[in-house]
Amino acid sequence: MKDKVLEDIPFGLAREAGPEDSSRPGRAASLLSEELLERKGVKPTAMRLLVLKALAAQQEPVALSDLESCLETVDKSTIFRALTLFLEHHVVHAFEDGSGILKYELCHNPDGCSVDDMHIHFYCMRCHRTLCLPSVRIPIIELPEGFEMESVNYMVKGLCPHCKKSGGA
Ligand SMILES: [Zn+2]
Ligand SMILES: [Zn+2]
Ligand SMILES: [Zn+2]
Repeated sequence: MKDKVLEDIPFGLAREAGPEDSSRPGRAASLLSEELLERKGVKPTAMRLLVLKALAAQQEPVALSDLESCLETVDKSTIFRALTLFLEHHVVHAFEDGSGILKYELCHNPDGCSVDDMHIHFYCMRCHRTLCLPSVRIPIIELPEGFEMESVNYMVKGLCPHCKKSGGA
């Protein structure tokens, strides 16, 4: 079943691009946005495409307020509704960044993703940025019987390399 789905993946979407690619915005931006939405069962309206493109242009996970400032002409509730729909259809991932703010990032898997495909996020307590660490895999934990994992959010807090350097000076 998986093979069949893989066959009709449009160019650029194939899985062989390494996990480190998910840190680069270019990969998501190169996807055909309409196709991506349709594949995930979302009707690609002009507004949704606009929100999707704004998300794809981000270098790191962003808060709703960040998207609002990129999309000044778009009504805030429209952005929020699109994001909620994207979440339901697994177009984006959302996680709490450790400071109480919800951050969104594009899902880079055209066919849904498993814990193996997910990565750790790092929250810098000084510059308040949330960084993707795609090279660090989320450790697989064993749940007690009867529990089923759907998603996992792994946040590490501390100082990013840039802040660590400037702080030590
Ligand atoms: Zn995903
Ligand atoms: Zn920092
Ligand atoms: Zn990430």
